[in-house]
Amino acid sequence: MSKLTIVMYHYVRDLKHSQYPEIKGLSVDLFKEQLQYFLRYYKIIKMEELIEAVKLNKELPDNSLLLTFDDGYKDHFEFVFPILDELGIQGSFFPPAKAIQEHHVLDVNKIHFILASVKEKKQIIFDIYSMLDKFRKEYSLENNEYYFRKLAKENRFDTKEVIFIKRILQRELPEKLRNIIINSLFNKYVSKDEGSFSRELYMNIDQLKCMKRKGMYIGSHGYDHYWLNTLSKEKQKREIELSLDFLKKLGCDINDWVMCYPYGAYNESLLFLLKENGCKLALTTQVGIADLNKDHPLILPRLDTNDLPKDRFAKPNIWTLKVINF
Ligand SMILES: [Zn+2]
Repeated sequence: MSKLTIVMYHYVRDLKHSQYPEIKGLSVDLFKEQLQYFLRYYKIIKMEELIEAVKLNKELPDNSLLLTFDDGYKDHFEFVFPILDELGIQGSFFPPAKAIQEHHVLDVNKIHFILASVKEKKQIIFDIYSMLDKFRKEYSLENNEYYFRKLAKENRFDTKEVIFIKRILQRELPEKLRNIIINSLFNKYVSKDEGSFSRELYMNIDQLKCMKRKGMYIGSHGYDHYWLNTLSKEKQKREIELSLDFLKKLGCDINDWVMCYPYGAYNESLLFLLKENGCKLALTTQVGIADLNKDHPLILPRLDTNDLPKDRFAKPNIWTLKVINF
């Protein structure tokens, strides 16, 4: 069979009892339920099997499914890993190297925790607007309404206010100004101690090594968690080198490795560099079932955990019906 369901996870935690119950994540109970659903309908495969299938042009088992976990959260070590280990299932983990090595918090995560800490999202927009006003001249910015009209487009998971906050802080503004605004909001609403927050949020190197030893797969999620399609070829090269240094430190095979694009973003020059550097597979955030006969191995689509049932007794849903052979 050439079809493969790749499922993507981010936060998996005991949300109800956590400090940030509003964080958009999956509760541990529902994660367990979803695994039981998968075990009923799918065959959960290992990344090494997929790499081999691609390299040798081999068939995959019927109803293959691969579990992937982005961003190296400590959640994955604390909650996910013991559950997978007990069931004898492999997960593939994609930690952001710089955040883990240098105890930063990724901008994207700062934004999540800012959003989870402020109930009234208009308050955050108000803060952003007043900072834009302050820096308008220095950075030749457009007026506030221009940005809102351009960016505030709701999607299947978020309201337009939330999308506006994410987009303007993730990408739209110049990097330096983005950092100023994000850090000011993070200090005001979340924490004044980024180093400790980072150590609480992400796995450390020993935890990653431990998971690897116990059969989990670790791949690259870039170094600085950039939108890689926005970087020059030289900077893309540097990102790959640094992220491979990190994988080497963990004892990973850097001749056959897997990339998971931050934000799902890639372009032609990146694909070329990945190939040149021994990357065998790469995962996007395009929504869909992967098909090894049709898809480029460096542009594989995934499903989000929310696309599939989180109930062990659920009937096969539309994505499951697309692939399963009874
Ligand atoms: Zn990521």
